[in-house]
Amino acid sequence: MYKVKVYPLENKNIIRAFRLASSLMELHDENPFKIRSYTNAVATLERMETPVAGIPATQLEQIEGIGKALAAKIVAISETGSFPELDQYLAATPPGVVEMLDIKGIGPKKIRLIWKELGVETGEALLAACEKNELAALKGFGAKTQETIKNALLYNQQSKGKLLYAEVETLAYHLRDFLRDKLKTDQVEVAGEIRRRLEIIEQISLVAAAENPQEVLAILKTIPELEQDEIKSGPFSWRGRETTSGLALACKIVSPPDFVTELFRATGSEAHLTGLFSNTDCLLLVSRKEKYTSEEDIYASAGMAYVQPEMREGRNELLLAKENALPELLTDNDLRGILHNHTTYSDGANTLAQMAVYCRDKGYDYLGICDHSKSAFYANGLPEFRIREQHKEMDKLNQELAPFRIFKGIESDILADGSLDYSNDVLASFDFVVASIHSNLKMDMVKATDRLVNAVQNPFTTILGHPTGRLLLRREGYPVDFKTVIDACAEHGVIIEINANPWRLDLDWRWVEYALSKNVLLSINPDAHSTEGYHDMRYGVLMGRKGGLTREMTFNTFSLEEVAAHFEKRKQRATALLAS
Ligand SMILES: [Zn+2]
Ligand SMILES: [Zn+2]
Repeated sequence: MYKVKVYPLENKNIIRAFRLASSLMELHDENPFKIRSYTNAVATLERMETPVAGIPATQLEQIEGIGKALAAKIVAISETGSFPELDQYLAATPPGVVEMLDIKGIGPKKIRLIWKELGVETGEALLAACEKNELAALKGFGAKTQETIKNALLYNQQSKGKLLYAEVETLAYHLRDFLRDKLKTDQVEVAGEIRRRLEIIEQISLVAAAENPQEVLAILKTIPELEQDEIKSGPFSWRGRETTSGLALACKIVSPPDFVTELFRATGSEAHLTGLFSNTDCLLLVSRKEKYTSEEDIYASAGMAYVQPEMREGRNELLLAKENALPELLTDNDLRGILHNHTTYSDGANTLAQMAVYCRDKGYDYLGICDHSKSAFYANGLPEFRIREQHKEMDKLNQELAPFRIFKGIESDILADGSLDYSNDVLASFDFVVASIHSNLKMDMVKATDRLVNAVQNPFTTILGHPTGRLLLRREGYPVDFKTVIDACAEHGVIIEINANPWRLDLDWRWVEYALSKNVLLSINPDAHSTEGYHDMRYGVLMGRKGGLTREMTFNTFSLEEVAAHFEKRKQRATALLAS
């Protein structure tokens, strides 16, 4: 049966329901003790490593921190997505006010004031109130809070109906496989934004081949999670919504001989397709409805090399394809090690030993641990004495796990003036340094660029971490003059990270080509805060590929010896520079 959770992770749905319940109770000014039982439950569930969905209530009650009442609620959420008390609070709250709980930088207590004092019940009304300066006049608010709320609202508006690639991928391919199975054919494929591996997805696009299009439409009708838009649909096209993700969905139905041409057409961006179609030969070929058996044939008939789906954005790929000069793209298998990861020394969930053993068992040759630096107090950043402790443990593990190797790194905060977080002596005790910005994120482009360039100029900086600090669909990054920053990395031999966390994917793939043109190496770093986090590397690889990244220009495809030599050389250079 077609059934898949959008968010593939364990206890997230339950945690989300409990969080919502506690926010709603705060909104309704309930007894703090009652609220605390939910926040405690969230804390318990966050610590748990096993999924609780599916465990019977009698067993759940035995788990420490979960009593009889919570167990019943967990079972209800796993079965229905909600529980009676939550439903009651939801029924007593205007839906627009519930949505307001998602606004960053404003808690339930303030929302209660807005709701009760200003009578605001929707996001739109709230935006209007901000524009009329009504919020700033409210007790405890002020112009600054109003501005924060306004920006968050505008950002939420833009993010509506969109999800991260990583949130949609499983769902889309599951749906494809379901249709393949029912139609007994391989000629069903995911196209559009997902096949192009865009970081943010607005629509799930499918192409399905069938002798009888009615058959496909009938199968789609049996899927309860799909909601058809009858007006926009037709005999050869299903349009509507996938309700668990909330995303638009389009399925194009073609006869089997037209499958390849349609898949090609439904994959490339408009710029890519018009780039091809303006080529008269190609236009003729497609309009003649030549029956292609592969996309390679389509490109070949236009006198071009095959363009990988992720590169079909209409940038410069067609020029390269014409000259047969497309890069050979990086693959998952090319990666030899994992740099930039956290452990329980700072804010990670797994110990150093667990992170190392898991990495080795996955077949990698080396691991770079970069816990937070001392200024990152909120993330349990490392003061000097704890660095020494960690290095001792690393030396011991390196003996035990050889030839596997842990490189001693740090994710040093870039301070407001662009300097790093430790004295040069301490910095020299690491094998490598990832320099990242985590605080004072509100900067204009000049300030942000200066701060980054300053950090890049520091001879101890090996890798520039998540250059813009963005969290996709949640928070815009600070504005950066990328050319200046990338030029500085080129001048000072600094590697740039493609942070592979699906929320970050930062450096943006659109700047990969420029970095490569300046001979700047990139590193695919998961920024893992648990062993599970290593699996995010593939999203970084997808983004690299989108930007045309090759194995040769990806730092963590280098062998253990090459990486060690690079770090050593950088350190000698730093020492020499500081001595002169
Ligand atoms: Zn970071
Ligand atoms: Zn990090």
